Amino acid sequence: FRVDRNKYQIQIPLPPKIDPTVTMMTVEEKPDVTYNDVGGCKEQIEKMREVVELPMLHPEKFVKLGIDPPKGVLCYGPPGTGKTLLARAVANRTDACFIRVIGSELVQKYVGEGARMVRELFQMARSKKACIVFFDEVDAIGGARFDDGVGGDNEVQRTMLEIVNQLDGFDARGNIKVLMATNRPDTLDPALLRPGRLDRKVEFGLPDLESRTQIFKIHTRTMNCERDIRFELLARLCPNSTGADIRSVCTEAGMNAIRARRKTVTEKDFLDAVNKVIKGYQKFSATPKYMVYN
Ligand code: ATP
Repeated sequence: FRVDRNKYQIQIPLPPKIDPTVTMMTVEEKPDVTYNDVGGCKEQIEKMREVVELPMLHPEKFVKLGIDPPKGVLCYGPPGTGKTLLARAVANRTDACFIRVIGSELVQKYVGEGARMVRELFQMARSKKACIVFFDEVDAIGGARFDDGVGGDNEVQRTMLEIVNQLDGFDARGNIKVLMATNRPDTLDPALLRPGRLDRKVEFGLPDLESRTQIFKIHTRTMNCERDIRFELLARLCPNSTGADIRSVCTEAGMNAIRARRKTVTEKDFLDAVNKVIKGYQKFSATPKYMVYN
């Protein structure tokens, strides 16, 4: 605030005006997830630290060398493999504000609406000390441009062009980083991936046995479990499962304990949960093609 010396008034500036229609984004001042909460994904963590954390925490290294750090990263891989989780962990580490938008929510009914939202989003990002903007499911807006003859998709393309425009607009050495996540990297517009824009790509695969064991341990940390549960055995019983699957196994195990009116979760609860959740998924699995990842 400042003091007006003529009138002896104290003036407190109003907060910046952000349009209330931009409610589709979630803003976290500092996410509470750390790298310790991410199981496996070692390579991915390494890469993210190099491209996002280092330039934000030590910009002088890049200045000295005379190179521009990447402005953004594209994360791709099957759903539930920890893309959002890792992005939040990076924001936590760099003390950055975390803004998450889902691509499909930027697709609006009126012409120009989506592009305006993007502008406002970046305006908000610029008002923060440091900020990570995370676009989830960008395939909804970032699909390759093509002409459908009727111009029906123009609005979507305009939104995407505004994102590209905003990406070009900020300084690579600044404190804004843009992360995008998708399950369909092959459909993205190459314009988004050109150098100087999202020039880094990080692949997230299904976790291996060791990572799955670790993810089990992470999700049971706060649970009241019996001692000596064989997490490795459980991990072995969940081949081709994602972090999100394992999380639901843990929740289901907890539910089993509640049903039996117990205060601790036993290994049997976990085994039953694996049976129920993982077998159930196989019936429903929408992602059989991802199985080739492992
Ligand atoms: P989507 O593409 O659907 O957004 P995603 O890859 O971003 O998927 P997340 O939201 O990061 O998926 O993961 C969903 C949940 O699964 C997380 O909240 C977390 O609890 C759990 N999870 C996924 N991967 C891991 C992991 N490697 N370690 C620990 N937990 C994980």
